[in-house]
Amino acid sequence: MSYQVIARKWRPQLFGEVVGQEHITTTLRNAVARDRVGHAYLFAGPRGVGKTTTARLLAKALNCVEGPTPDPCNTCEHCRAIAAGADVDVIEIDAASNRGIDEIRALRENVKFAPAGARYKVYIIDEVHMLTREAFNALLKTLEEPPPHALFILATTDPDKLPPTILSRCQQLTFRRIPAEAVAELLERIAAEEGFLLESEAALMLARSAGGAVRDAESALEQLFAFAEGEISVEDARAVLGKVDREQLGALSREIIEGDAAALVVRLGGIVDSGVDPRVVAEELLALWRDCFLVALGGEAAAAVQPADDELAALSPTEGWLARLAVLRRSLGELKLSRQPRLVLELTLVELARMPELLPVAELAERLETGASEAPRRGDVKKKT
Ligand SMILES: [Zn+2]
Repeated sequence: MSYQVIARKWRPQLFGEVVGQEHITTTLRNAVARDRVGHAYLFAGPRGVGKTTTARLLAKALNCVEGPTPDPCNTCEHCRAIAAGADVDVIEIDAASNRGIDEIRALRENVKFAPAGARYKVYIIDEVHMLTREAFNALLKTLEEPPPHALFILATTDPDKLPPTILSRCQQLTFRRIPAEAVAELLERIAAEEGFLLESEAALMLARSAGGAVRDAESALEQLFAFAEGEISVEDARAVLGKVDREQLGALSREIIEGDAAALVVRLGGIVDSGVDPRVVAEELLALWRDCFLVALGGEAAAAVQPADDELAALSPTEGWLARLAVLRRSLGELKLSRQPRLVLELTLVELARMPELLPVAELAERLETGASEAPRRGDVKKKT
């Protein structure tokens, strides 16, 4: 079973099936029901959260034989052709690969002709921010005087790159990053339907790792179907995602807190040698430390962390976790650009291990006691007494 099969099989066929974008699907359903659909929409939001899927759903809602209806039948010729991406009146343009003026010129030529069989001609332009300026100008002319049978749905991950003239012609709908819990729930449902038992914790890990993009989470799940038999555990998920063992991450964190640079360098070397990308190590540490920070904060924030490493969290006060998070987060940007990510991560972690203000309070007190303090002012006071 290929990923394509799963993705297609589970692509939402009704507005109600789109996960985590109720604010948008409700708006569109109402617009269709009240016959108030605009001529141009801008769907903005991160990748893999349902922009193109929703665009196709809107096309179906308008062109369904039973419609226009917020609940297309999914059985008529138009519904089926649109779902298969084969409808002549629903034209999808990928601006990332067709940046040029030609596609848009062709669009301008063809848009004036009535749709072949459906009510509306729907143009879905994906990654529209990639168009050249010339192409934008041509598109703008069409958006200024759209034929009554035309609907434009522009999708983008980067609305800030669009000219204001285009933005002002579109009704903008902003898609949200889907909460990990909602993605996890969907994954568990898919797994059950496919005959697998997906551990909740594993589902959550896949969802978090995909950063709110359903498509990426589905892709990882797909790999697991090929990999696991019957039950899918957290360790299976970790293996497929190329993630670090949580115990190793915990040990690495302890060595950093305890200031044991030598041990952490050896451990980090072992992890990276086992094939884990240093950037992934950094991201995983960041996620773990964030959890530790929340646990150290206590109360409701702590309750939201699942599963929590209470022992590790208790090794450092909240300020320590915050400071460590800040340093690692800054380094993550550098890591992503660096050709030597291993070196960058190693130096960052060593630096963290050597930061005296990050030592656990108890040890800091001990150092002050023995006069080995790196905080001279308080040390001076100590000597005088
Ligand atoms: Zn239909």
